[in-house]
Amino acid sequence: MGRSEELLKELDEYLMTNLYPTHKIVVREARDIYVYDVDGNAYLDFMTVVTTALLGHNPPGLADAIAETAKRLIAGNGYNWYTEELLNAAKAVLSLFPDKNLYNKVHFKLSGSEGIELALKIAKRYTKNTYIMYLMGGYHGRTYLTGSYHGMRRREYGPLPPGTLIAPFPYPYRCPFGDMPPEECGKAAVETIEYYINYVAIKDVCCLVTEPIQGVGGIVVPPMDFFERLKKVLDTYGILLIFDEVQSGMGRTGTTWAFEQFNVKPDIVVAAKGMTGGLPASAVVTRKEITSAMQLNDEHSTFGASAIIMAAVKATVDYYNMHKEELLSNAKKMGEYAMKRLMELYDKHPLIGDVRGLGLMIGIELVKNRKTKEPATKETSDICLNRALKRGVLFVTSGWNGNVIRFAPPLTVKQEHIDKAIEVLDKSLGEIEKEENIK
Ligand code: PMP
Repeated sequence: MGRSEELLKELDEYLMTNLYPTHKIVVREARDIYVYDVDGNAYLDFMTVVTTALLGHNPPGLADAIAETAKRLIAGNGYNWYTEELLNAAKAVLSLFPDKNLYNKVHFKLSGSEGIELALKIAKRYTKNTYIMYLMGGYHGRTYLTGSYHGMRRREYGPLPPGTLIAPFPYPYRCPFGDMPPEECGKAAVETIEYYINYVAIKDVCCLVTEPIQGVGGIVVPPMDFFERLKKVLDTYGILLIFDEVQSGMGRTGTTWAFEQFNVKPDIVVAAKGMTGGLPASAVVTRKEITSAMQLNDEHSTFGASAIIMAAVKATVDYYNMHKEELLSNAKKMGEYAMKRLMELYDKHPLIGDVRGLGLMIGIELVKNRKTKEPATKETSDICLNRALKRGVLFVTSGWNGNVIRFAPPLTVKQEHIDKAIEVLDKSLGEIEKEENIK
């Protein structure tokens, strides 16, 4: 029995392993796109810790920055005293936002969920309105408030918290208004949102929170003019637009922020994952006018913004800024290459219903039948947790039906890695189609 097998047995005994569908590997270390288990097996990482290892695992400078800080200061947060690391991280994060009129203040929290909750509180204070709107299929975390939004377990943990509304999201492959061109679907969604504002919330809405591209919801890219249209309506009613760029931020889509590609400037941006190098942090970024509505003691967190975390954020953002041009151009080039290769798989494999994405945030939606679009949930999970894993590639599922494979390698990915991932998908899809007679 290998070390992995022994440990897996023990893990099953002591942990609540029924709470999450995990890859059955025990990881010892990771570098760039490679993850190694305790037996020394190497895996190509196309899930990057749900897009966190954006610059590859352990980019140069990160471990040293953490170790150097840890030797001096471990306990402490960014709210009972200040540190130079906190200031440096704030400057680094704000350097990612060239428009200083709109984005000049930042506050750090520990996780994406907490960052979103803070953004909601800011919107309530600033507008003095109460309703929060979010869009179907969006994902903003697993705290009680953010977790209730996304609807995944609403039946079990419901009802929705009072004062929250869910409006339709224009999902081009499955438009909630019926079969229509994506732009029409986007228009219908904006009209419905305006209807909700007027007749359901009676204009008492503080914010609309949305991902630019739904990540956990299945890498769903809305029509490119959707947010521009939406922002116009929200501005009419004084409603803040909060962009959750926790997954899409810092280059993942080929631009530093996904919002740049949608020709819109949100009022509040929440970033996390990629900018942290892997340590727990999120950044809520907005302008002074909005954040000054908050009051003393509105916020605190025992572990938040500690010196070690802040040093990691600075090291990660510095590395990104230093190599930005290469990283973004690689994200675009490799994203296009991956899309081309995936379209070849689409032509060959009837299990693939749709391929979509921006930059290196790509989704492959699997269906049992292209006409009925019946989700191939079991098959998607089987590929990610068994067939691809066995062949040395890590993929994770997404989508409300669990039928979308996320294709999200680090920005440093090379063509040969993409070729290997495509080969593994090709074989895995072919096997299932044969076994289940899917034509
Ligand atoms: N927003 C988005 C878009 C996310 O993808 C996630 C995590 N997958 C979160 C928020 C929540 O982040 P966390 O798990 O750090 O609370």
